[in-house]
Amino acid sequence: MAGRRIEIRGTVQGVGFRPWVYRIAQRMGVAGRVRNAPAGVTIEAFASGDALDLFIAQLQATTPSAARVLGLQTTSIPEEQVDGFAIEPSDSLGDKTLSIPPDLATCPDCEAEVLDPNNRRYGYAFTNCTTCGPRFTIATGIPYDRPATTMSRFQMCTQCQREYSDADDRRFHAQPNACPKCGPVLSISALGGTAVPGSDPLAGAVELLKRGAVVAVKGLGGFHLACDATNATAVRLLRERKRRDEKPFGVMVGDLDAALSVAEVTTEEAALLTSPERPIVLVHARQETSLAPEVRPETPLLGLFLPYTPLHHLLLAGVGRPLVMTSANIAEEPICRDNEEARRRLDGIADAILFHDRDIAMRCDDSVVRVIAGTPTLMRRSRGFVPRPFHLAKAVSRPVLACGAHLKNTFCIVFGDTAYFGPHIGDLETVAALDFFEEAIERMQTILAVRPEVIAHDLHPGYWSTQYASAREGAVKVGVQHHHAHVASLMAEHGVEGPVLGVAYDGTGFGEDGTSWGGEFLLCFSDRFERLATFRPVRLAGGDVAMREVWRTAYALLHDAFDGRPPIDSLPLFDSVAPESIRIVSQMIEKELNSPRARGVGRYFDGFGALALNRPESRYEGQVAIAWDHIANDAVLDAYPFALDRGTAPMEVDLRPTVRAAFEDVASGVPPGDVSARFHNTLTDLTAEVVRGLLVELGDLPVALTGGVFQNARLAAGVSNKLSSKIRVLRHGQVPPGDGGIALGQALIAGAILGDNG
Ligand code: ZN
Ligand code: ZN
Ligand code: FE
Repeated sequence: MAGRRIEIRGTVQGVGFRPWVYRIAQRMGVAGRVRNAPAGVTIEAFASGDALDLFIAQLQATTPSAARVLGLQTTSIPEEQVDGFAIEPSDSLGDKTLSIPPDLATCPDCEAEVLDPNNRRYGYAFTNCTTCGPRFTIATGIPYDRPATTMSRFQMCTQCQREYSDADDRRFHAQPNACPKCGPVLSISALGGTAVPGSDPLAGAVELLKRGAVVAVKGLGGFHLACDATNATAVRLLRERKRRDEKPFGVMVGDLDAALSVAEVTTEEAALLTSPERPIVLVHARQETSLAPEVRPETPLLGLFLPYTPLHHLLLAGVGRPLVMTSANIAEEPICRDNEEARRRLDGIADAILFHDRDIAMRCDDSVVRVIAGTPTLMRRSRGFVPRPFHLAKAVSRPVLACGAHLKNTFCIVFGDTAYFGPHIGDLETVAALDFFEEAIERMQTILAVRPEVIAHDLHPGYWSTQYASAREGAVKVGVQHHHAHVASLMAEHGVEGPVLGVAYDGTGFGEDGTSWGGEFLLCFSDRFERLATFRPVRLAGGDVAMREVWRTAYALLHDAFDGRPPIDSLPLFDSVAPESIRIVSQMIEKELNSPRARGVGRYFDGFGALALNRPESRYEGQVAIAWDHIANDAVLDAYPFALDRGTAPMEVDLRPTVRAAFEDVASGVPPGDVSARFHNTLTDLTAEVVRGLLVELGDLPVALTGGVFQNARLAAGVSNKLSSKIRVLRHGQVPPGDGGIALGQALIAGAILGDNG
């Protein structure tokens, strides 16, 4: 006889890990116990030495589908006389903070039950088991047990209770376990005089969707608005009502085959589509498909996802066609959560609402992922991922709350050596969003059982997140520069301590001098940075207005490149702009009235894109930049000239020669795809050249590519390829490259500035 302690680290709680260990131990005649531990699961096992080796090998060979094992460590312990193998209750204190896992998509076993007419859960929309189902979105407190979830008011029936208590059952300790006899039920409400056909809520919703109606559906983390994605009239109707002119809609398809019929899906993308996190995956749409073109006006990218709750499986199976599934909100407000709220806010938008009576404790939007230059990169990290923690290289001694940025806000809480992102909040521009931000922070503090003593925030005094930070009492406040935070978030993701050479390209971020930065080459440490190079600024006539009316940026670039005499007469772009508007903008720039200087590389994308595509306006954030990327002609390999001004500190990348060369091309009728390719090649070349130049002095530091602009696959891949293989290039994967990832960097920096890091 021998004894071993086996410590397993990773996401192994709330995913059926302990019952799985139990079953293996039973089968192999190993005695002992398993329990949740602070960083995972601890097993104490007793058997012959050989049997223990086999047992450990078995544990390493496979894992339950939703588990993520990060490490397994064994130590010998004195043997004990124990009878059988036991699952011990969690320690009450030590491990409670880690006990809530993210929501998990319906597993194949549950899906099969729901679609099997002979199963007692046939057609039941709330079926789940130990390896699948709602988790984070139903948690109201800790530890993660049924009483601390929104399932607490449903009393399990005898059969469900038996499943729940039987260690050999798939539903052993499945906290949301339910069946049609005892669990939540669906209901449907018609709005605005719609008649719901039949008496069954699900069948009624399916019928309405087939007829082209817009149906709001209560899901896991909030309400969606659904309609038949193959019905152009229905999609147009939804666009009108949602006041969403051109932004692409997410589309849910029944299974992988259906996905392959509407898009080109790589093996890697297929794995993401079918993962337990079930994010929206941005894939290339096929040209000829059943989808209405209104789903994705003018972009080749399609946001595709597969059903992740039994309700979705049933809807998709019922309708038999792809469905638009978009967050139920207006413009950029937070996703709807409560039944009453949905009734109020969705009147006039949806024709009917498919409700259920299980409350959503935490709003959680769908996550969005895209494979960028071979790396799956989260663009929005929310449902399915939150609250899965990140482990940091160094611990902080005081808990930190980082408030994030302004657009695509997420916040982050760090204590010890673990970091927890909150769910995607959205743009902090409405009262509803600010309420959600505050409420989500409160709730995360509750379920993590932590009270932050340090608050990190952006330097921008006008951001609501900054104002929230200043208003919070009883904590040390630390302002963190936006692009330093971008780089630090990437350092944290890779466990790199610095120094690194950060290349942070985005639309805008508050600089230490009070101006807008966004084309930054920064030598970064965790507690400080040095700004080594930036871009020559461009004037934004009217400030934020220029982000929408991108022709203004094009005008400003030409004005600068042609010494105050922009040759607009030979450019079709300006034919569609009122001469009076041009005159005003021209004066604003000349007299420097309400025309702040901005160095964001995103602004150059706007300006060049507007110029070559004849696009005076960007209807949603990044629209012109995205179109500009996709049109690029891969066969064009040459680039435009650019200049580097080494006389300034920091030195400046000067794109005036680039503007002049692009102007020549556009004015002489060169196709926009060629202009786009040359523009991208120029940015790639200059980025690599500046980096190489800086590394000559700095030595071979890791290079961190971050900021929203690096969502551009052409640029991200191009720069990585241009740098020598000796240089370690850090790119985003699990932490979003855009402002949704910034909070982690803020927290890391605040901890380091206060000298708290372990
Ligand atoms: Zn299941
Ligand atoms: Zn039941
Ligand atoms: Fe940014």
